[in-house]
Amino acid sequence: MKKAIMVDMDDVMCGGGFLGLINEFLGTNYTEEDVEGYYMQNLMPKDKQALFLDYLMSKNFYDYCHIYPYVQTVLQELQEEYEVFVGTSYVIPEREKESGIILLHKYNFLQEHFSFLNPHNYVFVGNKEILNCYAKIDDRLENLKRTRRKLLYTAYHNKHLANDYLQEQGIERVDGWLDVKTKLLQKKI
Ligand SMILES: [Mg+2]
Repeated sequence: MKKAIMVDMDDVMCGGGFLGLINEFLGTNYTEEDVEGYYMQNLMPKDKQALFLDYLMSKNFYDYCHIYPYVQTVLQELQEEYEVFVGTSYVIPEREKESGIILLHKYNFLQEHFSFLNPHNYVFVGNKEILNCYAKIDDRLENLKRTRRKLLYTAYHNKHLANDYLQEQGIERVDGWLDVKTKLLQKKI
């Protein structure tokens, strides 16, 4: 049986959607360097936050995302050796009742751009701790529990984490998908 790996979607397979929507809504040109912390909503003036959420829910987030370089080819190569699962959360806390539409958008995006992945291996989940597998690739530290290999995918909000700090916690940083390939296909533990 192949070892299982979990791959996160947002800011790992694709990104830029949130920023694209914020810039369209505000008529701004913010870049990731302008974001402090994890939540891009912080770029939004307080009095516009509720309206922005309405705007966000009326759009397909994935129309605003770009697919990261090499993710498709590397995932196909990984599939030869591993059972690949997509582990992605979809509930917006302030819009729990309407969040089901995001699940549909995620499903359609995966079908369109990652048709080589098994749809039975899509895991739409809030708390990723329920998944226990050989390797997890995620941009959030808290999603790297219950796995032997913890691969932190570099993103705007985790760039500041020092390598010493990550090493102490047994976390390997990956800068892009070619790095993922090196870590999982050429350096096995
Ligand atoms: Mg993510």
